[in-house]
Amino acid sequence: MAGEAQADCLFCKIIAGEVPATVVRETDTTYAFRDINPQAPTHVLVIPKVHYADAATLAAAEPQITADLLREAGEVAAEEKLESYRLVFNTGSGAGQTVFHAHAHILGGRGMQWPPG
Ligand code: 5GP
Ligand code: ZN
Repeated sequence: MAGEAQADCLFCKIIAGEVPATVVRETDTTYAFRDINPQAPTHVLVIPKVHYADAATLAAAEPQITADLLREAGEVAAEEKLESYRLVFNTGSGAGQTVFHAHAHILGGRGMQWPPG
């Protein structure tokens, strides 16, 4: 069913505690943990506890949880004392998405270029 945990999903396994992660925040609907391969001094992923393949699919099905996710991204940035940060939703393999469970990347602690690569 829509939103249910997927047995073959890495991020569902992290939520279930089956794969270890360095958790920075948790709410009823979201989970935030450090990226295993950080691309900036601060690199945290915020994910919904429900499984949807990407941010747009999540937003279509669960607008409140999508709002929770964005608010949590702001809370993480505040806790990490990031004055500036980049919030990224890679969507589709051509854009670099490798894990098909919606997630926001919070990147900060260094200068950022635009346009991104
Ligand atoms: P994507 O490429 O889909 O936008 O982002 C997936 C992110 O998950 C990557 O930045 C990658 O480093 C991170 N990642 C992959 N496997 C693991 C893992 O086992 N633990 C953690 N904490 N992050 C992971
Ligand atoms: Zn999942």
